[in-house]
Amino acid sequence: MDTKTLILGLVPVILAGVFIHAANAAIQRNSNGPRWWLAGTAAHGIGLGLITLRDVLPDVLGIVLGDILAAGGFLIMLEGVARFAGKRVPKWQLVGMAAIIVLGFPAFTWVIDNAAVRFGIFGSVVIASNLLMLGYLSIIGRRDGQPGVRLLRYTIYYFVGSLTVTCGGVLLLTPEMPSILAPSQLVAIGLLSLLVVETNLVFGFVLLSASRSASVLRRAALTDHLTGLPNRRAFEALVNDHFETAPSGGQQAALVVFDIDHFKQVNDGHGHDVGDAVLQHVATVLQAAIRDTDHVARLGGEEFVALIHARPEASVHDIADRIRQAVADRPFVLDGREVSVTISAGLVEVSGGQPTLASLFKRADQALYKAKDAGRNQVVTAAA
Ligand code: GH3
Ligand code: MG
Ligand code: MG
Repeated sequence: MDTKTLILGLVPVILAGVFIHAANAAIQRNSNGPRWWLAGTAAHGIGLGLITLRDVLPDVLGIVLGDILAAGGFLIMLEGVARFAGKRVPKWQLVGMAAIIVLGFPAFTWVIDNAAVRFGIFGSVVIASNLLMLGYLSIIGRRDGQPGVRLLRYTIYYFVGSLTVTCGGVLLLTPEMPSILAPSQLVAIGLLSLLVVETNLVFGFVLLSASRSASVLRRAALTDHLTGLPNRRAFEALVNDHFETAPSGGQQAALVVFDIDHFKQVNDGHGHDVGDAVLQHVATVLQAAIRDTDHVARLGGEEFVALIHARPEASVHDIADRIRQAVADRPFVLDGREVSVTISAGLVEVSGGQPTLASLFKRADQALYKAKDAGRNQVVTAAA
């Protein structure tokens, strides 16, 4: 196969990738990775363009700069993946790989002219940078989900495998290779792989961005903006999960609605912004007071809700009362003065049967009214 035609064929594929990355980087303006993927893909494409023109350009452009850019583009993409994962590639790794290409390509052009060794240098740096991407992809997958991560991971396995075979083959079987443009079945196989890989890398990176957007929206849709607690929608999903997965006859569980006492007085007396700060304070205390296996959320206004589980030494009522006490014990500090904040709670047990959430909330609310009527700062359990 004609390797020159194959390299030339790569250029429009990469050009399309540059357009796609540019559009993606414009959409994802607040995200760091896409700009690096754009720069890396562009550098890589320019490098391959220079390599294609190798027989009409001076060696410094057609061989040395072309090879440096074609391989170096992957280092830039690697840094983009690391930044997208919230990390940085360790300096020694980047500097080490950059040194190999910046020193290696001139040395094996002007000191010893050896195209096979240059192909080996290209392969080893590209393989190393792709393998290093795998670690950052795992971090991204845990955060944003798997679609783009999976595509990139399998692409990298395929790329590393095929490049290892072709580089090994070139170095062992045709070490006298005159040029990368000279007809060579091995180099052609490597370039065909590159065609698949370039396309997959572009779509894989763009899928990473799409998954990130989706996960940011998902999180925002499930989080209360003021307190950072899960919101009602998230809580309902958690409780429905609980109904589906909790073993019947397992631990006793309860839904507890909490309401801040005389909260209107806080707003009226100190202003709405202080009211907001009190809501954040109560959210922090509630979050700290519940266990990892339990859940707390903000229902809206000055109402919170928790799903709690009994323990061998404490009933659900005991636990709800400890949470109430935790709020009463931690006064809100305003301008150095302590302002006491208390909450009342209505509790409804959820073990047994398949109650609807609406009916549970209704009974918890009725119990909450009783707690308010009875003088506030207390927990009332709904009648069975
Ligand atoms: P009670 O002890 O009977 O619960 O009395 P209360 O004053 O707490 O009850 P009420 O329902 O009359 O007042 C709730 C207040 O909560 C009214 C509303 O202005 C305020 N509120 C609701 N959402 C927010 C919010 O996001 N921020 C602030 N600062 N206030 C809020
Ligand atoms: Mg209320
Ligand atoms: Mg209230």
